[in-house]
Amino acid sequence: MSDALIKVPKGTRDLTGDEVAAFVELENVARAVFLRFGFRELRTPVFEHVELFSRSLGETSDVVEKEMFSFSDRGERDFALRPEGTAGVVRHLVENSLWVKSGLQRLFYMGPMFRAERPQAGRYRQFWQIGSEYFGSGDAAADADTVLIGWQILRGFGVENFVVHVNSLGCGECRPKHRAALLAYLRTRESELTEESRKRMEKNPLRVLDSKVDGPKLTDAPAMKDFLCDPCRAHHGQFLRMITEAGVRFEENPRLVRGLDYYTRTVFEFVSPDLGAQSAVAAGGRYDDLVQMLGGPVTPAVGFALGMDRVVSIRLKTGWTEKSFSPKKAVVVAMDETSRDLCFGIAQALRAGGFSVPPITPGKKLKSQLSSAVDNGAKWAILVGEDEMKSNLLTVKNLETRTQDQVPASRLHDHLVGAPA
Ligand code: ATP
Ligand code: MG
Repeated sequence: MSDALIKVPKGTRDLTGDEVAAFVELENVARAVFLRFGFRELRTPVFEHVELFSRSLGETSDVVEKEMFSFSDRGERDFALRPEGTAGVVRHLVENSLWVKSGLQRLFYMGPMFRAERPQAGRYRQFWQIGSEYFGSGDAAADADTVLIGWQILRGFGVENFVVHVNSLGCGECRPKHRAALLAYLRTRESELTEESRKRMEKNPLRVLDSKVDGPKLTDAPAMKDFLCDPCRAHHGQFLRMITEAGVRFEENPRLVRGLDYYTRTVFEFVSPDLGAQSAVAAGGRYDDLVQMLGGPVTPAVGFALGMDRVVSIRLKTGWTEKSFSPKKAVVVAMDETSRDLCFGIAQALRAGGFSVPPITPGKKLKSQLSSAVDNGAKWAILVGEDEMKSNLLTVKNLETRTQDQVPASRLHDHLVGAPA
């Protein structure tokens, strides 16, 4: 029996090189934006009780119907890897009665999410999201701030080419009227719909508009816009005025309904033409009923999530270069066995002084050490061998100017940073 090679699971990948460096930069940009908007970071577990997701996302959502990685813990409890971040954040809010401390809570998160999707470009089984949730404000300014956060993160990370699609789904007051009209319409088109849409249509007709197959052909479906009650219409108008004023590039899209059940009023999606089929880079909206559905008091809320994998892939296509951490680089070369300990100490001292110094590699040829130092962009090479040990002077090569000096160990740092003797 041969041992088969173990590979990374289907739909997942290892993040390496520039991709992981760009992920870190995107996280840093996002943290800075969230802090400017007064949000604090929250880290929740990557698995939760399965009912948390089935209750909050809706039984007929794609995610709950077919994308959840659920498992039982030794047959005792049913858990699921989190498919999205909002449910866990709301669970945290309710479990800790956070509204008692302050009516307002603004939280953000970043981390991996898991969905058993059919893998394809821009669609993974483990992917990463950055998101935020703003609880306690029903004002349209909270919706507008949420869109602005997404806008500023993308722009701050150097992604320019995108547009925000916006719509309103109304509330418990006006949505039933739209639902009835939509259902009547769908019945007239029933024979053209997929099996899946026909099944979902009675339970949740909006979901049919979100279908990747049927949605696009239902262009004359009744639009929610025409059914909004006065308060929902006013809220939507205020939201549109604010994002217009803030300079956000947006389009009204009456068929935007989003894949999860908990949205009310504002929904939006950031769409990039640079992505092909999986064009959504971020999405979100208002969910005024979810906190109550999960056992808390009535609490207005709005949030969004950005797909890091897709955002990074766009950014890498447009000539990204790493800029975050670039200290001066040096290499310390032990020319023989006896200088190894001294070299080890010099390397430590240089790192403490802010230099980037790779681990010493005693026994490797001087020539190959110098040429890999040059390849890695090192400016300095410090050579230590028998002569240096005797004279107590280190040989310091400037790899850029190709000059060389003898420097006492105590002056090494000053020499490298160009301090006068
Ligand atoms: P889609 O319509 O592409 O399936 P969605 O409506 O399921 O997206 P959300 O749940 O709103 O997506 O998640 C927000 C963002 O997370 C998406 O806009 C996308 O950028 C990203 N995302 C969602 N699912 C995946 C996935 N399987 N792989 C990579 N990114 C994803
Ligand atoms: Mg999806």
